Amino acid sequence: MLPLVALVGRPNVGKSTLFNVLTRTRDALVHDEPGVTRDRHYGVCRPEGRQAFAVVDTGGIAGEDEGLVGATTRQARAAAEEADLVLFVVDGREGASALDDEILAWLRKAARPTLLVVNKTDGLDSQAALNEFARYGFSDAVDVSSAHRRGIDDLIDEVLERL
Ligand code: GDP
Ligand code: MG
Repeated sequence: MLPLVALVGRPNVGKSTLFNVLTRTRDALVHDEPGVTRDRHYGVCRPEGRQAFAVVDTGGIAGEDEGLVGATTRQARAAAEEADLVLFVVDGREGASALDDEILAWLRKAARPTLLVVNKTDGLDSQAALNEFARYGFSDAVDVSSAHRRGIDDLIDEVLERL
């Protein structure tokens, strides 16, 4: 069985866009409407000449326990719990939000190996974007632009080092 990497984060940070880039598909629904991915979507990342790994996209953790949003959140948590590695995806444009703080607190409790991925850094100073999340305490966060496929090879290297 392939090792499993889960994409976790609040809605609209670009998890599905990243999933599509990693798996080279258009399977995940990418939308401007937050919370568009409600189920778990599985795919495989097959980097050339390197180890393949499975990827699961989630609808995001929205901090609610009730209704459809709650169901989506529970799915995302379940995906994180079964993963070998969690990619905690955040939005470099918006910086750290209260919901990111909540998700981080949950991830710490879940105690899964986690890599911080700062997305949407196109047109931004990458170091400044990473610094926005310095207080989260990840020693080696990765900045990417999923929409522009920038930083993806480095991200895959970091993932494979941890699998
Ligand atoms: P999800 O809810 O976390 O799955 O987010 P989506 O993948 O659906 O993306 C939400 C929005 O952010 C869409 O409008 C994407 O086109 C946009 N987006 C995703 N990645 C990037 C990126 O790297 N840069 C920019 N500028 N926009 C992005
Ligand atoms: Mg999505």
